[in-house]
Amino acid sequence: MQIWVICVGDEILRGHTLNTNLAFIGDTLAREGYSITRECTIPDEENIIAATLTESLNSADLVITTGGLGPTTDDITRTVAAGVLERPLQFDPDILAGINAFLRSRNVSVPADALRRQAMVPTGTDTLTNANGTAPGLWCQLDKRALLMLPGPPRELEPMFRTHALPRIRQAWPAHLATRTCEVCGLAESVVAERVEPVLEAFPEVRPAYCARPGQLTLTLTAHTSQREELERAFAEVHPPLGTHVLPADCKTVGAAVGKLLMARSWNLATAESCTGGAIAKAITDVPGASAFFCGSFVTYANAWKEACLGVRPKTLAAHGAVSRETAEEMLDGLLARDGVDAGIVVTGIAGPTGGTPDKPVGLVFVGTGFRTVRRVERCVFPGNRESVRLRTVAVALNQLRQSLLAVGDEA
Ligand code: ATP
Ligand code: MG
Repeated sequence: MQIWVICVGDEILRGHTLNTNLAFIGDTLAREGYSITRECTIPDEENIIAATLTESLNSADLVITTGGLGPTTDDITRTVAAGVLERPLQFDPDILAGINAFLRSRNVSVPADALRRQAMVPTGTDTLTNANGTAPGLWCQLDKRALLMLPGPPRELEPMFRTHALPRIRQAWPAHLATRTCEVCGLAESVVAERVEPVLEAFPEVRPAYCARPGQLTLTLTAHTSQREELERAFAEVHPPLGTHVLPADCKTVGAAVGKLLMARSWNLATAESCTGGAIAKAITDVPGASAFFCGSFVTYANAWKEACLGVRPKTLAAHGAVSRETAEEMLDGLLARDGVDAGIVVTGIAGPTGGTPDKPVGLVFVGTGFRTVRRVERCVFPGNRESVRLRTVAVALNQLRQSLLAVGDEA
């Protein structure tokens, strides 16, 4: 089955709007066993929209457009589609009544002309209710093919796609792909591939995909739905070579996995961050329910704060500098000495772009993690720009604590 997605909007091409609609549709379809064959993003220009729609409808089973269904003069997807399909626009009083009811419930008034434009739909088109906005989605059935038009705003498109479009897609075309995914942390992409590929030689029908980001990677295995058993066996067999680098199935992030381990022990965690400026605390508290185990964080940028909050000695700072193993060790000791703190993460480093020296280059970070008897400080040098150094620091710090917790098992 061929699915083409056309995203309409000058703002996407100018880089003002990130194309999250494509990401959402791609991810939602993949989970359902469908894959997008092609995507293109085009400007709000009549000729280009018409040409792209014509080409797509000649090739794809399902064409999905996003954007340009609104009330303003630059919203022309509906009109252009009516021309390409040779289905004239028709006024639908039910759509207008729905839009009016929606606007009344929000106490908003919109010019009558603009409302009427949104109630004009190509003949023979089904409308999909928009629970969060005015423009309905449109489904045009064309023999066995279909054109699905969705509004641009993600908070309108996403619920509409899930609730009204997916059931139609499922009914019209059986899913052809089965997928299994797992999150892998603390291994480079090439190392994951090196461990996974030999296992997959026995499963020629199963295809791997590696989606890497700093410190973490999503491994996806895909096969045709007729090969589901093969897929399940392959998925089980890639786990042993990846060992504890694979996160538990119910944890999408290292922060979630650390939280799970800590809660199993009823332990509390605190962090003391220098170069990450609170990003480790954010990663931990991104997971709902983190208050069950997370005490809080000290963001100790200034030396005076490292001394006052964590008890780092001025002598240590003077002799070794703020970015040093010795300072990290004292930060960790100070953090773990505080009441109610069972486990801790500390980081001190040089995120750049300035501040590096030959001895202490940009990207140098000391990562300290510990609890009770286990304390560990690692010297890391991360590549990339400021953002990359900080993201990697967060991932490595959380994973370092996670690996220590796993290593002691139930003993600690
Ligand atoms: P509206 O009624 O808001 O005008 P519309 O269907 O006409 O809706 P657009 O005008 O194309 O949609 O886009 C409205 C807003 O939706 C944009 O300003 C942008 O913020 C967001 N948007 C549009 N396309 C996308 C996309 N592909 N990904 C994420 N956001 C998008
Ligand atoms: Mg618009």
